Amino acid sequence: MNPTRYQVHGDVAVITMDNPPVNGLGLDLRRGVSEGIEAAQADGQVHAVIIIGTANCFSGGADIKEFGTAKVSAAPTLRTLVSELEGSSKPIIAAIGALAMGGGLELALGCHYRVAAAGARIAFPEVKLGLLPGAGGTQRLPRLIGLERALNMIVSGRTVSSEQLADTRLFDRMIAGELLEGAIGFAREVARVRPPPRVRDLKVRYPDAEGFLGIAMSAAATAAKGFPAPPACVTAVAASLGDFDAGLAKERELFEKLVRSPESGALRHAFFAERAAGKIPDVGADTQTREIRQAAVIGAGTMGSAIAMTFANAGIPVTLVDTNEAGLNKGLAAVRRNYDGSIKKGRLSEAGLAQRLQLITGTLSLRDVAAADIIIEAAFEDMDVKRKVFQELDASAKPGAILATNTSTLNVDTIAGFTRRPADVLGTHFFSPANVMRLLEIVRGKATSKEVLATGLKLAKTLNKIGVVSGVCDGFIGNRMLHPYLRQAELLLQEGCLPRQVDGALERFGFAMGPCRMNDLAGNDVSGLIRKRHYAEQPNAPRSKVADRLVELGRFGQKTGKGYYRYEPGSREASTDPDVERVIVEISQAAGITRRPIGDEEIVQRCVFALINEGAKILEEGIALRASDIDVVYLTGYGFPLIHGGPMFYADTIGLHTVLRLMRRFAANPLSDPGSWTPAPLLARLAADGKGLTS
Ligand code: NAD
Repeated sequence: MNPTRYQVHGDVAVITMDNPPVNGLGLDLRRGVSEGIEAAQADGQVHAVIIIGTANCFSGGADIKEFGTAKVSAAPTLRTLVSELEGSSKPIIAAIGALAMGGGLELALGCHYRVAAAGARIAFPEVKLGLLPGAGGTQRLPRLIGLERALNMIVSGRTVSSEQLADTRLFDRMIAGELLEGAIGFAREVARVRPPPRVRDLKVRYPDAEGFLGIAMSAAATAAKGFPAPPACVTAVAASLGDFDAGLAKERELFEKLVRSPESGALRHAFFAERAAGKIPDVGADTQTREIRQAAVIGAGTMGSAIAMTFANAGIPVTLVDTNEAGLNKGLAAVRRNYDGSIKKGRLSEAGLAQRLQLITGTLSLRDVAAADIIIEAAFEDMDVKRKVFQELDASAKPGAILATNTSTLNVDTIAGFTRRPADVLGTHFFSPANVMRLLEIVRGKATSKEVLATGLKLAKTLNKIGVVSGVCDGFIGNRMLHPYLRQAELLLQEGCLPRQVDGALERFGFAMGPCRMNDLAGNDVSGLIRKRHYAEQPNAPRSKVADRLVELGRFGQKTGKGYYRYEPGSREASTDPDVERVIVEISQAAGITRRPIGDEEIVQRCVFALINEGAKILEEGIALRASDIDVVYLTGYGFPLIHGGPMFYADTIGLHTVLRLMRRFAANPLSDPGSWTPAPLLARLAADGKGLTS
């Protein structure tokens, strides 16, 4: 199907791009534009050509569905199309309404003139996918808006409004009235200009360009944190100071290198993974959803108060319930303190504060949930407490209300069984701090109805979260995988490492925080309670002696000023504590372990491969629907390094064969919990077939 229309208005031809949702420059659209240009060239009556998009969008750029397919390089490519436009003997005018991004902007820069509607915006977001504009954008933009501004836009990927560019040559005219009508008027004024002006013929001038570029390069390299794209953007833009064709060749060379880089691969994987998350095979667009106009949260503790804020931030009124008056007051005070902090940082206005506070009502009575469309339970992590709460909710909630639990580890099916409406029950596992963290694991119980699940996914979007569906198991996707990861960290301590080393290795690998610091932040007492339950359920399971000992010593982490590290009052800075080192060495001695030096590589591989193996099991059991969902969970909920694309993508990058080979080596070490290195059958199968987890 041709997503373009070609019409002639007297002496002006108009090519309209109409490829919803964002006029992605797929092959059909590129062909349509190219054919339109040819038709205009051939028509003696036509003296100028306009390319225009829809009211919402000129073009959002490359059609991302074509990434990695043969269509990207099928003729005409975006590069050839842009030079075709630029070479036209009849003037071509881009009429930009709303948004021109990426390849869409490059298309406009290849035109001889650009006119725009008020409020139009442009951006080169390629850097966010580890790339740079590869169809002349890095060479043409500086010629129109200057070296410095172009460089800032291309390196940051930021969107800029036409008003901010009013003093540049980018737009030849701003159109006040109807865009097409204004564009046709403009086209008639320039129709006889021959040859029409080309951006490539302009020169980029900058006093002391060398000095400026030196500073820009070191700033980009620092901000890039190991990603090659930002410095490459600087190099490409720098080339615009010289000959145009040489600059284009440089841009192309850099683009080709970036496209093949593992870093860009990881970013693109993460981008697609986020879009795929929340798509459920048996829940389609035709599945009904329920309206969520009013919410209630049970338990005004750490999680409950932050979840209430999340609703208020999205404009949904929420009732915060706690049966303990002190608990309720503490929760409401935490909300207030948090918002005050946002005001101080300039992120929230006084009016915004008033509006949000008005949306949150505190109460001590569970009966006050009767009007709520969704009720999220965030009371103590104890099955008896959950039983009591859900029985009461079953009695008080209106028919059709969704009953959700924020449990981290308890069985959602058991909880659903406390009600007479298990189809209305699901898990909504928020991450702490719930008003900040973007991840929301949505736990689908055996009985959860499709409608309730679809509503949960829609709610995630409304709350500005990324919803990932998980089946029911201990810890769901994220915490279940965390368990073997933390287990290896513990064993590494027993075998010869100190907390600083384990954390350092994983932080150098790119984790936001190593496991010991993370435990100190989350509270060692919290993980201690979970271990206690595990020991009761599996009496023969090996013990986490270091972690257990720290809990016995009251070293709960940041909240007690002592954990794996020492913390000065009010500080989050972790200082090494010789007491902890002594505890660790004693535990090794008591177990008859001769401590040995362990390198970064082994630390990272043991911890990360433990994640990979458990992830493969989760995938095989159907707890996660796709490998990329697991990556989304780890990237958005656990600080896994984006540069590696998530544990599953990382496994594929190294190759599953290599992963298995190293796992066999670890299994030969009796101190590494050999049983945990039995490969997930899926991993073994995929490796044997030469396949990957994410493909
Ligand atoms: P918390 O101890 O900070 O708060 C629990 C609150 O629930 C308290 O204010 C308590 O008074 C109240 N409460 C207890 N029983 C109640 C009842 N019957 N009716 C009404 N209120 C009641 O706990 P938290 O850390 O906020 O955790 C809450 C839930 O969220 C738990 O299931 C926990 O596993 C889960 N969770 C916690 C985290 C986290 O990082 N803290 C993360 C994800 C999930």
